[in-house]
Amino acid sequence: MVSLLILSGFSVQAHDHAHTDDNLAAAHVHGQAELNIVIEQGEAFAEWQTPLDNLLGFEHVPATDAQKQRYTALRESMQSVDAVFTLVDGQCVQHGVELNQPFVGHHEHNHDGHDHQHDEHGHFELQATYHLKCAEGDAITGLVTNLFARYPRLQSIHVQLINNRGQQAFELTPAKPNQRW
Ligand SMILES: [Zn+2]
Repeated sequence: MVSLLILSGFSVQAHDHAHTDDNLAAAHVHGQAELNIVIEQGEAFAEWQTPLDNLLGFEHVPATDAQKQRYTALRESMQSVDAVFTLVDGQCVQHGVELNQPFVGHHEHNHDGHDHQHDEHGHFELQATYHLKCAEGDAITGLVTNLFARYPRLQSIHVQLINNRGQQAFELTPAKPNQRW
C-alpha cells in the first residue's frame, strides 16, 4: 500500500524530507495532523500522522501508570480506522491496519528515512495506515471524524484526497469536522 500511495503522489512529509531537520520540524507541529487518502477501484488507503502530544497530552516514553494506560488505550483505539475517520457511503470495511511503534528503538537513526518517526529533539509521531475495501467506492460522498471531540489538543487535520475525480486538499477543524465531496 505504501507503494500505491507513493505512485499516487502521496507520501508523509517526513518520508520525503527525512534528511532535512527544518522540514521535519515543519511537519511536526503540535495541534496539527496529516491525513492522506486514496480511493481507487473499490479500495481505500489512508495514512494518518500526528504528533503524539495531540492524542496523549505528552510526547515521551510513558513513565507513570496513568501514562502507560493512556498509551495502551490509544494504540487499541487506533487499530480501528473509525477512531480516525469514517467514509460516508461506499460501504467501506476495514481490511488492514499498520501502526508504528514510536518509542521502540527511538535512539536509533534510520538513514533511509522509512522509520523516521521523530526528530532530534524528542518529538514523537503516531503513524497509522489503514486499508479499506469498499463495495461502492465511487459512491463515497465524504468523510466525518470525531477526533476533535475526543482529542481536544488536536486543532486541525490537513487532508489530501485522491479519488476518481482527481486530487484535492482540505482542512478539518473542530468547527468543521466533516467534509463532503
Ligand atoms: Zn512534539
